[in-house]
Amino acid sequence: MNSRAHQVAVFEVIKETVDAVTLVLDVPQAVREKFTYSPGQFLTLRIPSDQDCRDGSVARCYSLSSSPHTDDRPAVTVKRTAGGYASNWICDNVAVDTVLTVLEPSGSFVPRSLDADVLLCAAGSGITPVVSIAKSVLTAGSGDVALFYANRDRDSVIFAGVLGDLAARFPGRLTVAEWLEEEHGLPGSADIAALVRPFADRDAYICGPTGFTAAAHAALAQLDVPLSRIRNEEYRSLEISPFDGPEASVTPPGAGRSAAPGAHTATIEFEGETYDIDWPKNVPLLDVLLAKGLDVPYVCRESACGTCVCSVRSGRTRMLLNESLIDDELDRGLTLACQTVPETDGVHIAFDQD
Ligand SMILES: Cc1cc2nc3c(=O)[nH]c(=O)nc-3n(C[C@H](O)[C@H](O)[C@H](O)COP(=O)(O)OP(=O)(O)OC[C@H]3O[C@@H](n4cnc5c(N)ncnc54)[C@H](O)[C@@H]3O)c2cc1C
Repeated sequence: MNSRAHQVAVFEVIKETVDAVTLVLDVPQAVREKFTYSPGQFLTLRIPSDQDCRDGSVARCYSLSSSPHTDDRPAVTVKRTAGGYASNWICDNVAVDTVLTVLEPSGSFVPRSLDADVLLCAAGSGITPVVSIAKSVLTAGSGDVALFYANRDRDSVIFAGVLGDLAARFPGRLTVAEWLEEEHGLPGSADIAALVRPFADRDAYICGPTGFTAAAHAALAQLDVPLSRIRNEEYRSLEISPFDGPEASVTPPGAGRSAAPGAHTATIEFEGETYDIDWPKNVPLLDVLLAKGLDVPYVCRESACGTCVCSVRSGRTRMLLNESLIDDELDRGLTLACQTVPETDGVHIAFDQD
């Protein structure tokens, strides 16, 4: 089992709408520090399943809808997906005192600063990290918040009350543009652009299902918002389970230096240890490290979540795909282990961020 997985009891279940619940979690004192999080991050839940899966479970990510600045306990908010397995299992089965297996918080959908103005674009359950960011900026920072929020109909709007309370508590600092599909149809990029135009000079955070994130991206492109100012969280289900953990036993630190044919040599720093490895040219770093038994953090293995971020200190690498790092992070040498392959010998990579 992944060493970042912990048993966490549900403290409270709040019915938000007819098809969405919030699970407030009672993290045991012994691991509370490991559950320190930033607004916008997510948890990964292990959901029992007898479907075709390796260990009788599937893994799903759920963003924290609580704010570390306003809420005593972390909480996730889950909306039923039509025909979906885990979201319906959670809504039907989880009750107070249910014990869930949960990975420590991760993700890079986090505001650069709570003192900067932000533009937030969300659809449906995509409001969860966005409401955490909004609560955090308004209560612990000095930034203003503009929110574009699309929903099917009024009854499906999650956190209508929370947003109303925030607007009343922070007059002039929270602007909400609400979009109801039953009145206007699905929001297109031109619709979104028209409503967010006054806020196009801000850092933007987009969250929701694929169709919505694509429309919101296109809207921001129409407004010439550079990609370096756009963070994206796309809601999709994990194909793999990060609960399985590393796949073999640990290679002792400082093992041999001569590269096998078709491999480069590399040095990896992780949790205070240094590992010399052979890194096959077309194999992503994460696969190599997990096969060696190193318990490096990861969740999606698809470049989307940012959990396996590490930094290239020397040598040259490239990413096969990048959906979560923005330009200034790439400029700082950050890379995603699940997508990184070597291009030279002598690559030096550190997981421990300074
Ligand atoms: C970083 C992140 C944060 C997230 N945060 C939240 C959150 O805060 N709240 C939230 O509600 N969700 C969130 N999600 C989405 C969540 O992780 C799940 O993807 C969502 O709950 C659906 O999972 P499910 O098991 O219910 O659906 P799944 O069973 O995965 O099904 C998803 C869809 O695919 C269809 N489908 C399933 N199997 C097949 C098949 N074999 N062939 C064709 N179609 C199929 C289903 O009908 C359904 O429409 C987040 C996702 C990510 C990546």
